[in-house]
This record gives sequence, C-alpha cells and structure tokens, in this order.
Amino acid sequence: MWPKIGPVLVAGNWKMFKGPHEARAFATRIRHLPERLPGVDIVVCPPYVSLHTTVQGLGEGSLVKVYAQNVHWGLEGPFTGEVSAPMLAELGVSGAIVGHSERRQLFAETDETVRFRAEAALDAGLFVIACVGETEAEREAEETEAVLARQVGVLPHHERLVVAYEPVWAIGTGRTATPEMAQEAHAFIKSLHDAPVLYGGSVKPENALVLLSQPDVDGALVGGASLDPVSFEAICQAGAESVAAAA
Ligand code: PEP
Repeated sequence: MWPKIGPVLVAGNWKMFKGPHEARAFATRIRHLPERLPGVDIVVCPPYVSLHTTVQGLGEGSLVKVYAQNVHWGLEGPFTGEVSAPMLAELGVSGAIVGHSERRQLFAETDETVRFRAEAALDAGLFVIACVGETEAEREAEETEAVLARQVGVLPHHERLVVAYEPVWAIGTGRTATPEMAQEAHAFIKSLHDAPVLYGGSVKPENALVLLSQPDVDGALVGGASLDPVSFEAICQAGAESVAAAA
C-alpha cells in the first residue's frame, strides 16, 4: 500500500536510555532479526550520542533502521543543543521521530515546530515518525478528534512519513488504549491523512498482537518494552504474526 513501509513497522524509542556501549550491544544482537520476520520493518531510536555505535553495531547490510528521537529544521546555525537532518543522514541514520508527547509537554514543542522538523527531515531524505495524541483531560472532555485533527492537519503528505497515535495517558503508564479505541483513532487519523499509523502507549509482548491485528494499526512505537531485547523481539514477532494472519 505504502511503497517503502511495512506492512508492519515496529519502532523502539529508547528515550534517554542506553549510552553508546549498551546501544552497540543491543544493535549487534538484533541485526539479523528482520530476516526471520518477513513483512516487519524494524527501527530503533537511540539517544543522539548512541546513534553512531548503533549504526556500527548493526553493520553493513542489516535491515534494521536507526532513527533519531528528534531533528532540528535548520541545516546548520547557532542552535545550541540541536542536530540537523543532514548531520543525521551523514551518520547513517534513516529517519527521525518528531512531536513526541514528551517533547510537546516538557520541551515546548508546538504543532508548528513539529511541521518544520518533519519537513526538514523529509527534505534531507529521512523517514519521519510524527507523533500525535490526546491527553487524558482532552479525552474526558471529548476533544480527542479535535486534537488529532489539529495535530495531523499540520503534517506534510509524503510517502516517507508515518503517523504514530500515542494517547498521552497511555505513554509510560502501563495503561493501554483498548484495541477498539486504537482502531477508532487510527481510522479517524487515516480519514485525514493518507499515511500508515502506528500505535504507541504501553505496548508490551502481551498486548502487541491484539493491537497490531486491528485493521488500521500498521505498527507500534514502543518505549519501555523496547529497552529489553527479549521483549522488543517478542513485539516484533507479534508483528510478523499479525502479517501472517492478515495474508
Ligand atoms: C513512547 O515513548 O513512544 C512510548 C509509547 O512509551 P511506552 O511504550 O513506554 O508507553
């Protein structure tokens, strides 16, 4: 359906975990994983300082891709602490997450800066996972669709862009959207934007298959459960099972 993605994409967001040594060891362990799991694209998103050793640990020819957790919209300039898309590409990084709720909530990310970051990454030839999702208060106030429409509405349309639906109340809390809630939100997002939609929010080996089996769930963005290679591999395996069941 989408030329370069899927049918299922499982991305591990390591957040501010795994320095260069630990990242290299993880990468070395999973470098051949996609060969055993047809139809599953596998991505890991280390902290900036661990991107290089992750790329090295995967080695030439691994089908596992490395994405950054953020990217700046400028090419270069006086932006202390920021990293540009061409710099990431030069390292062998294939993509970037933009708009993660932790960036929106803790680091003043706005819909406009999310759009700038996504456009810059796409211009540099990177893939993009653009995160959207409502807070608990917004869901309770029945504003979920309005929030998603606003956040999705600014995203560029591009074959290398994937949306991740991550209800904020489900991230790192152990609370997961029910498969029905995820399916409903994904179908709504797809009515607005022609892109694959990943689900994120406390995905674990125990709930991955039922979530990934929803018709409009095209993969998972996994935080906590991606830090342990055993649980990350189990989620990727669930992705392969969902592909096989849909065939
Ligand atoms: C995330 O950080 O994108 C995420 C979904 O985290 P967790 O799986 O820990 O809820």
